[in-house]
Amino acid sequence: MRLSIVVPCYNEEAVVELFDARIRETLADLDVDYELCYVDDGSRDGTLDRLRALAKASPDDTRYVSFSRNFGKEAGMLAGLREATGDAVVLMDADLQHPPHLIGRMLELYSLGHDQVIARRTRDGDKRVRSALSRLYYRMVNRVVDVELEDGVGDFRLLSRPAVDALLSMPEYNRFSKGLFSWIGFDTVTFDYQNAQREAGETKWRFGSLLNYGLDGLISFNSRPLRLGIYLGLTLASIAVAYAVVITALAIVNGPTAPGYVTLLVAVVGLGGLQMVMLGLVGEYIGRIYYESKRRPHFLVKETNVPRSVFPAGNRVDTRAGALLQQGEETGRGER
Ligand code: UDP
Ligand code: MG
Repeated sequence: MRLSIVVPCYNEEAVVELFDARIRETLADLDVDYELCYVDDGSRDGTLDRLRALAKASPDDTRYVSFSRNFGKEAGMLAGLREATGDAVVLMDADLQHPPHLIGRMLELYSLGHDQVIARRTRDGDKRVRSALSRLYYRMVNRVVDVELEDGVGDFRLLSRPAVDALLSMPEYNRFSKGLFSWIGFDTVTFDYQNAQREAGETKWRFGSLLNYGLDGLISFNSRPLRLGIYLGLTLASIAVAYAVVITALAIVNGPTAPGYVTLLVAVVGLGGLQMVMLGLVGEYIGRIYYESKRRPHFLVKETNVPRSVFPAGNRVDTRAGALLQQGEETGRGER
């Protein structure tokens, strides 16, 4: 059996080489046939140069692709899965936050016949506010979405070939991996590990992007928020009717009275806000349809040491550097 390790890297020059050394050490200890599949997600630092060097040093078991710009980790993982040829694939971050030694455990569980082996991290060392927010979010979101999303479960997992093929067969443009992994199902097993801090470099997450990621999770896998809108509207309309009846009855009994502009204002502003939210929600779904309907490729490959035919035609671009490389010439960009 051959194991592929897929590693998306974005501005990871500080840590890729360390990662490479550690992972090779671990895999050698485990005595498993392996390949490393790196994806350079349009890094602006020396990541690509380092990947080139790593691939040159051990050409038989190192594959890499480089994107024409930053397409995001989801696209990176997709490219990595395309590039991987193994019977099983492990998805890992380049920053060593996913401890390599856990691969042994994963392989054990894989040999028991599981198709997805998930390593779930604890939240040790996370900022307290952030982990509390995350927990709240998952509790809330799992009531709404159709797939099971778990706190602490990230992309660190082993996937069997059938599971990888299932993931690759899903063509959607908006890829929310957490949901996709859960959606494909298969025989899944989870184990916990102690959260680790990044070895070097810095995280690419900002609070804003986390918020957006959260919204993605909510919207990607169902249309229930839209239904929520319908119910909300119906509830409010019923309350309004009831209120109208009460007001009318009071007016008939006591004669008309003027006050009530606070009620009016609150109702107008509140309803206005709700309508904006629902409109935004509808817009969000339409936006997704818009993006899906363009059928754009998920990423563009500018350079790789694997046969380009691995990637669908739409994903390949011929940049000058890439063409030179294909002819086996030095691009000279390595020496910076
Ligand atoms: N990453 C990527 N493209 C991006 C952002 C991140 O390929 O646009 C990679 C990054 O290089 C790392 C992994 O995704 O290998 C996780 O990123 P990071 O460590 O910043 O996330 P965190 O661990 O803080 O959630
Ligand atoms: Mg990290």
